[in-house]
Amino acid sequence: MAIKKMICIGFKSFRKRTVINFDEGFSAIVGANGSGKSNIIDAFVFVLGALSAKSLRANNIKDLISNGGHGMGPSDTASVEILFDNADRSFSLDLPEISILRKIDRKGNGIYKLNGKRSTRKAIINLLDLSGILPNSSNMIMQGELFRLINMNSNERRELIEDIAGIASYNDKKISAEDE
Ligand code: ATP
Ligand code: MG
Repeated sequence: MAIKKMICIGFKSFRKRTVINFDEGFSAIVGANGSGKSNIIDAFVFVLGALSAKSLRANNIKDLISNGGHGMGPSDTASVEILFDNADRSFSLDLPEISILRKIDRKGNGIYKLNGKRSTRKAIINLLDLSGILPNSSNMIMQGELFRLINMNSNERRELIEDIAGIASYNDKKISAEDE
């Protein structure tokens, strides 16, 4: 599985339609302070179903909609689409590519689309969970979080490794089986 591209329209500093292509292998995002590097990460977290504005460095979900720029006024909506390569069928859908789109407006309405068709956050989260990608799991390390990882005690570190290895959900099942 790989991310092929991301398309932002009216999301934070991306007032105009902005396409970010990712080549195979390792990608690095470089740019001056305030140029929008972290906004790209926020766009990932947003499109993958984040609920809290705080996790996207905003006070309110509406702050994610662009205030304008590039000679354009404020945007009415913010949308982010992410396109995954699914050649290896990492996603449990028999399609070569998976597109996930999330769009919000200033009235507080929001929609999700899966490969162009209306979907729900729950359905998308389920699909991502089965494929091992969720924004709150350990495959995204946010700015500042490295200190937390360094300062962990050995138990917390083991829990993290179990989480990454996908064992954590089996531990939960074991505990609930023992309770029965
Ligand atoms: P640094 O190197 O300092 O971490 P960065 O490249 O990560 O910088 P970001 O935090 O991604 O920068 O971008 C910050 C910019 O995004 C600011 O200039 C801010 O004005 C702009 N921005 C944030 N929200 C919006 C919005 N709703 N509308 C327009 N611009 C926005
Ligand atoms: Mg930054």
